[in-house]
Amino acid sequence: MYLKALEIHGFKSFPDRTRLNFTGGLTAVVGPNGSGKSNISDALRWVLGEQSTKTLRGAKMEDVIFGGTQLRKAMGFAQVTLYIDNTEHTMPMDTDEVAITRKLYRSGDSEYKINDQNVRLKDIYELFMDTGLGRDGYSMIGQGKIAEIVSAKSGNRREIFEEAAGISKFRYRKTEAERK
Ligand code: ATP
Ligand code: MG
Repeated sequence: MYLKALEIHGFKSFPDRTRLNFTGGLTAVVGPNGSGKSNISDALRWVLGEQSTKTLRGAKMEDVIFGGTQLRKAMGFAQVTLYIDNTEHTMPMDTDEVAITRKLYRSGDSEYKINDQNVRLKDIYELFMDTGLGRDGYSMIGQGKIAEIVSAKSGNRREIFEEAAGISKFRYRKTEAERK
């Protein structure tokens, strides 16, 4: 399982549909200050279901939509699609490639898709559970995260090991069942 491509359209500083293809191995994003490097990792977090505007470096969710420049008017939506290699079927899907899409309109309406089919955010969350990639996975290590893990309370640190060991889905299902 690896990231094949990321398509960004109307998200933060990317008004034009932009596709980034990741070949195997290591990818580094370089560029001057303010050129949009961190916006790429924000797009990745966002499509995986991130709900925290603080994590996305904004005040409200609408801030992820291209807000316009002197030369270009603001957009009405932001859309990000992540293409993931699933030839080893790490994700519980029959397809060799899985495409996850998130779209947000200025009206506040949002859409989530798995392989072009409308789904709920919950479905995306469940799809990634215990793959180590999802929103709460530890595949995205932001600034300050290492210190947070090292100094975490034992209960929180346990959650990290549970995700790594692939058992957090059982805890999640138990909580979901108890809620009903
Ligand atoms: P650094 O090297 O300083 O970390 P960076 O390459 O990571 O820079 P980003 O933080 O990704 O830069 O991009 C910042 C730019 O994105 C700013 O110019 C900001 O105006 C622009 N930006 C952020 N949100 C939006 C938005 N909603 N609409 C338009 N532009 C935006
Ligand atoms: Mg940056």
